[in-house]
Amino acid sequence: MVSTCLFCRIAAKEIPSQIVFEDSEFLAFKDVNPQAPVHILIIPKSHYNTLLDVSDFTMLGRAQQIIIRIAEEQGIAQSGFRIVMNCRDDGGQTVYHLHYHLLGGRFMAWPPG
Ligand code: 5GP
Ligand code: ZN
Repeated sequence: MVSTCLFCRIAAKEIPSQIVFEDSEFLAFKDVNPQAPVHILIIPKSHYNTLLDVSDFTMLGRAQQIIIRIAEEQGIAQSGFRIVMNCRDDGGQTVYHLHYHLLGGRFMAWPPG
C-alpha cells in the first residue's frame, strides 16, 4: 500500500468512491469524470505503477474476468464496450496505479484521440 497514491487510498476506503464490485484482490468503482454512460475503473488492490511493473500476468486475466462480469451487470455486454489501460505519459496515464477503464453505453469511435 502506497499511502500517498490516490487509488490505494480509494482501495483503503480513505477516499469515498462509488463501488460497483469488490473482492479480496480487486476494486471496481465509477470514474469521477465519466467519458461514457458507463465508465468504471478496475484496480488491483495491490499497488503497481504501470503495466510495466506487472510480473504475474495471470492477475490481468482475473481482472478481465471481473470486467466481463461487470459489463454483464451494467447491461453493456450485448451492445459492446471498450476496455482501456493507459500506460505512462504518451498513453495518457494520469494516475500511476494500474487500472483498466471499462467504457460503454454509447458507440466508441476509433481511432481514439
Ligand atoms: P488515467 O488517465 O490514469 O488512465 O485514468 C485516471 C482516471 O481516474 C481518470 O479517468 C479520472 O477521471 C479518474 N479519477 C481521478 N481521480 C479520481 C477520483 O478521486 N475518484 C474517481 N472515482 N476517479 C478518479
Ligand atoms: Zn496505489
